[in-house]
Formats: sequence, structure tokens, C-alpha cells
Amino acid sequence: MIKISEESNSNKELEEKIPRIIEMNEDLTRNNEELAERNHAIFKKHNIKTFDIVGAIGAGKTAILEKLTEELSKDKKVYVICGDITLRLDADRIEQHGAKTIQINTGRECALNAYHIQKVIKNLPLDNVDYLFVENVGNLICPSDFILGVDRRILVVSVTEGDHVIIKHPLLVKMSEVIIINKIDLVDTLGTDLDRMIKDAKSINPKIKVIPMSVKTGENFDNFLEYIKNC
Ligand code: MG
Repeated sequence: MIKISEESNSNKELEEKIPRIIEMNEDLTRNNEELAERNHAIFKKHNIKTFDIVGAIGAGKTAILEKLTEELSKDKKVYVICGDITLRLDADRIEQHGAKTIQINTGRECALNAYHIQKVIKNLPLDNVDYLFVENVGNLICPSDFILGVDRRILVVSVTEGDHVIIKHPLLVKMSEVIIINKIDLVDTLGTDLDRMIKDAKSINPKIKVIPMSVKTGENFDNFLEYIKNC
């Protein structure tokens, strides 16, 4: 009985020493921002145009990158970093279109971070890269916690995700320079309120460039291609 009592006392002392909150996220984010700044300085030094493509699984990120890299690779050196929890399916698809790809398998992590990008940079022929695109892990929440050190973030949503997909993810909309609303060829079939999606994007981030597009039919793709070329 006495022993039990001693144990519970020492447990109680230990319990009192346990911090109530451990601010691990804050530290991780701060370190990530420092690494991202370093990444960005390296890209600037080598005059590389860099973009982070974020969006849910199935929004059309890979299909857009296939079409985009096919066009850009005609006269530029294009690299794509593909983040996925496993496999290199997307990287293999994109590589068919003229770009070089690097796959990062993140395991259980639901977004790429600046450290992942730093590791890739070390193995790139930086003087021979014109464009670097990152296809982030398919997810609309986690990537908002980690900037990578690229010039611009491009958010891809599709009309199949529902009219509310934009208003439900304001953080990523605020952090992005462009939002592509993909699969507009399905608007009539699904009865999607495309105007509402555009208005939602503009109300969250008045500066955001909204590009309704169908990567499948090619509708409005040239608008996006021109934007990338003018960056
Ligand atoms: Mg993909």
C-alpha cells in the first residue's frame, strides 16, 4: 500500500512537470520558413522560375502539368518535383511530355516542405533549369502550413469537388496567386454554380487570378500558358 502511495506521489510530481502545451508546430513552421527563404535565394540566383501546384487528389494537377510541360519543353528546360505519399505514377506520366521529374515519397506526411525541396535542389543542374514546378501532395489543407520557397503558388480545384470547395479552404486561396477551376466541361452535367466559385475566390483574395479551364477539352488552357510564360 505504501509503495503504491509513493508511486502515485512521484507520478503526481512528474505530471506536474509535464508542459501543458508543446508548440512544436510553431518551431517547425519557423524552421521551414528559414529553409524556404534559402531555397528562394538559390532559385533567384540561378534565374529559375518556380511554381508550387496544390490541390486535392483528382483535381487535375498532373493532367495540367502534362499539357503545360509539353508546351514549355519545346524551347525550355523544365523540371517537375512530384510529391506523393508513395509511388511515382504522376512523375512517370509527366516525364512522357518532355520534362525531367524527381519523385519525393513523403510517407505519412500530407504536404511537401522546404526541407524536401532543399534536398532536391542539391541534385539539380541549376544553371540548366528554366522552370521548376512542384506538384504538391494531393490535399487542400496540409500544404497551407508549409511554404517551399518558390515564386508562386497555383491552386487547382475542380467543379466536381462541389460549389463550396473554395469557400471551405480560404487559407490556400489567400496564399495563392492563381486559382484554376478545372473540368468546366462538366458544369452543365453537374449543375455547378461556376459564378459562385469565382465570386468566392475573389472575395477571399481580391488579387487572385481566376482561370476557369478544362484541361481535357483544352478550353482556356492558352490563358494559363500565357500567364506562365509572362511570369
Ligand atoms: Mg497528381
